[in-house]
Amino acid sequence: MPEPKPQRSYFDWNATAPLRTEARLAFEGALSIGGNPSSVHAEGRAARRLIENAREQVAALAGARPGDVFFTSSGTEANMLALTPAIEIANEKRPRSRLLLSAIEHASVRSGGRFAREAINEIPVEADGRLDLGALEEAVAKAPLPLVSLMQANNETGVVQPVAEAAAIVHAGGGVLHVDAVQAAGRIACDIAALGADLLTLSAHKIGGPKGVGALVRGSEDLHIPDPLIRGGGQERGLRAGTENVAGIVAFGMAAAAVRQKRDAEAGHMLALRNALETGLATISPGAVIFGVGAERLPNTTLFAVQGMNAETAVIAFDLEGVAVSSGAACSSGRVQPSHVLAAMGVSPALTRGAVRVSLGWETTSADVEMFLGAWRKLATALSKENRGIAA
Ligand code: PLP
Repeated sequence: MPEPKPQRSYFDWNATAPLRTEARLAFEGALSIGGNPSSVHAEGRAARRLIENAREQVAALAGARPGDVFFTSSGTEANMLALTPAIEIANEKRPRSRLLLSAIEHASVRSGGRFAREAINEIPVEADGRLDLGALEEAVAKAPLPLVSLMQANNETGVVQPVAEAAAIVHAGGGVLHVDAVQAAGRIACDIAALGADLLTLSAHKIGGPKGVGALVRGSEDLHIPDPLIRGGGQERGLRAGTENVAGIVAFGMAAAAVRQKRDAEAGHMLALRNALETGLATISPGAVIFGVGAERLPNTTLFAVQGMNAETAVIAFDLEGVAVSSGAACSSGRVQPSHVLAAMGVSPALTRGAVRVSLGWETTSADVEMFLGAWRKLATALSKENRGIAA
């Protein structure tokens, strides 16, 4: 029997994913635990137990020890916390003089954390969106003891980065590697040791947990961040003060546990649908460009454009057809800026302006893909008429 046509089709899972049922139930249950996790009485201990259980679940997702997981308010905060010149390894107090970032990092990494602007260098990517490892090697050789931040997979293109290769280069040069795994977690393996990362960022809401919870995970207890962003009551072993978001953390833990158990099946499901979507797209619009197609990509992400398309208009047109997608352009302070990711990949500004991101998730169905393709057929027809009008 054909699947019933959905009312709306959500294709913006890289922006955020819906809350998983397991996470919602855990969240609701935790709301009735009244104690403060720092209190010594039974109520406080009950709240503490919930947090420590979640810490184990998140640690397992990253292949880390529970004691190396520090909860934060978001992936953004975890990135900010990680990017400090003061990082110490084995209590060796030698400040990191430079921060090396790939040219395609998320805004929260691009901001540079606590490094001065002048201390930051960008490492270019290849045309397929993967880090230029040769350029990384040169930059590491020039920068004694650098801190390097490289995302595991890009949020716009889905391109998976050569993290383990980068880690070998960074460590050979005495550097520390921070990996933003916010988009990769739950879609591909993000084992901190296999990646060779010293620090790893996770965010709950991309894996089916609630918004407003994240974690910074360290690869070894020898690594210290002596300058927390938020000081006060000493929570999170002094690294992140403030009474913990118990329900949010508990739900994050449940989402992490669910993802660990279901990742392979969900990734296979998403990949099959994503491939069907891309095949349909290419059939309707043979001239469509899918970015990063030559590289390994997350199983759920397609960033595409056709000449002459305006992404903002396309997103609105899709929305009117019941399909939620996003533009590849980032909107900040009311101004739409061209994607720095596509610019770094050498894509022309004209094509970049038309980039639309379609991202799938575990609840996406083939009926959703049909709905997307139906909407795209209409848009593509209108666009080609418009383009013929311009040409004439
Ligand atoms: N890093 C990447 C790659 C992201 O895509 C995002 C969010 O889109 C973040 C970090 C920020 O995470 P959060 O929304 O939890 O602040």
